[in-house]
Amino acid sequence: MIFTNFDLIYANMQTGKFSNFVLLIKTNKMAGKIALVTGASRGLGKDSVIALANKGFDIILTYQTKKEAADEVVKVIENLGQKAFSLPLDISSTAGFDQFVNEVKSILDTKFNSAKLDALVNNAGIGINESFETTTEEILDSMTNIHFKGPFFLTQKLLPLLNDGSSIVNTSSGLARFSFAGYSAYGAMKAAVDSLSRYQAVELGSRKIRVNSIAPGAIETDFGGGAVRDSADYNNLISSQTALGRVGLPDDIGSVVAFLCSDLSKWINGQRVEVSGGFRL
Ligand code: NDP
Repeated sequence: MIFTNFDLIYANMQTGKFSNFVLLIKTNKMAGKIALVTGASRGLGKDSVIALANKGFDIILTYQTKKEAADEVVKVIENLGQKAFSLPLDISSTAGFDQFVNEVKSILDTKFNSAKLDALVNNAGIGINESFETTTEEILDSMTNIHFKGPFFLTQKLLPLLNDGSSIVNTSSGLARFSFAGYSAYGAMKAAVDSLSRYQAVELGSRKIRVNSIAPGAIETDFGGGAVRDSADYNNLISSQTALGRVGLPDDIGSVVAFLCSDLSKWINGQRVEVSGGFRL
């Protein structure tokens, strides 16, 4: 039986003595739903797919280089009782997108017995620290391709595979609202992600597809060489300017991604949701 996304599920049970006995099951699960999350071999993407699996989603996740790490994440999800499959993807190169979409189609068909996805989380990304003065054309192109052009065209190509009523979550950054020296190229691309999300929400609303961006503050991951996690000075600086008095952890983010992909957020659309513990309010 495939359960749908209602808090209360009415399940008809057929037994020899009692036919059409109605069983009430309390759940907030999104059983039978499938989410595709890019860059989920580690960091925020990994925490997001675990949170989504805990909500009942089956998962297609991508990695760029760390296949073994992605395979470990697949095992974690399977242990939670959900299906999972990993695929390689370089989000910076649109040349590979047609093949990737074909692979997604094939996995949906052969592994998930489904034709469509219900959620897309554009999460894959990297951090750099480069002053405006020394940012080269190559660096700017790389930030554009990874954070903006890649998610733009991947989402466009995946539209036919998204069910009406799906949810798209694009990953922005706190650095699109506040400014730190060294993030002009990165922060500007994340601001573009926020803007793109609103335009997508306007145009995809006719299909009841919701589009929001999530803007994490500084989180302890490998991002940017792991500076937030590994540099005590940087960690203390961020904590001192955060209302809740600490930096973020991956599990501060995944639950919000899962919320934005679920029907619990069904009336949130075209919004930038900052998840930073109250940084520089
Ligand atoms: P991590 O470095 O921990 O993980 C990055 C993930 O993205 C990995 O799965 C990696 O794959 C994948 N990836 C990297 N480059 C590419 C590429 N070119 N194509 C496809 N996949 C790629 O980073 P976070 O989890 O911290 O960051 C995730 C997202 O969150 C990014 O978009 C980032 O900009 C954003 N963000 C992060 C913040 C933070 O402080 N951590 C704050 C605000 C936003 P593999 O493991 O195979 O290398």
